Amino acid sequence: PMPALEALDVRLTYPNGVRALDGTTLKIAHGEFVAIIGPNGSGKSSLLRAFAGLQRVNAGTVRLEGDPVDALSAVARARRVALVPQTLEVLPGYTVQDFVLMGRYAHLAGWRLYSKHDYEVAREYLRRVDAAEFVERGMNEMSGGEQQRVLVARALAQESQTILLDEPTSALDLHHQLAIYRLIFEMHKSGGKTVVVVTHDLNLASQFSDRLVLMMGGKVVAEG
Ligand code: ADP
Ligand code: MG
Repeated sequence: PMPALEALDVRLTYPNGVRALDGTTLKIAHGEFVAIIGPNGSGKSSLLRAFAGLQRVNAGTVRLEGDPVDALSAVARARRVALVPQTLEVLPGYTVQDFVLMGRYAHLAGWRLYSKHDYEVAREYLRRVDAAEFVERGMNEMSGGEQQRVLVARALAQESQTILLDEPTSALDLHHQLAIYRLIFEMHKSGGKTVVVVTHDLNLASQFSDRLVLMMGGKVVAEG
């Protein structure tokens, strides 16, 4: 069967000369829950951005459900894959609601207006990450952990087949860490979502994932 995500011998060197991906090969099956671990600077975030089509690579192939990620339009890509980024460049003036609605972009019809359903979906995922109370707040008027939960809500509101999460609970208290992992696990288990999570928490990684992948020096060096 066709993998959900496929990176074949991918190489990426940033303009500053840093070689972030140095022959990365990784296949992730449809419906799999994979945790990626590895030291700082090993290329984990670069790989997730490449899978999401947000970072072009210099060589090798990145495929989403069989299609080269570069060949897909932004909307087609957003229907297949959502990314919870490791860091957020805060957009001043955005409310939480408007920010989460951006996740609905891939589902807009021709007129580009959000429907009642889009608002309901945004509210529902805010509720599920325990952030419903912030709906009217500005994105820059929340703690790091609160923002992180809103980032997860935005990605889930995208309702893509695959969800990539880059250290999604690094700023969360223990209660919310576990709640977010349970939510993602539930969407994987019942909703059949493909999940890739980068984390430094080996306990959570091994508790919830089907497979652990270790990256070092821009390569996958171990799996199991
Ligand atoms: P990880 O997520 O595993 O910590 P990253 O993929 O963020 O690793 O980074 C891999 C390497 O690329 C690091 O050495 C980092 O300093 C460098 N790097 C990351 N992003 C950029 C960027 N936008 N421009 C230049 N270098 C970068
Ligand atoms: Mg990173």
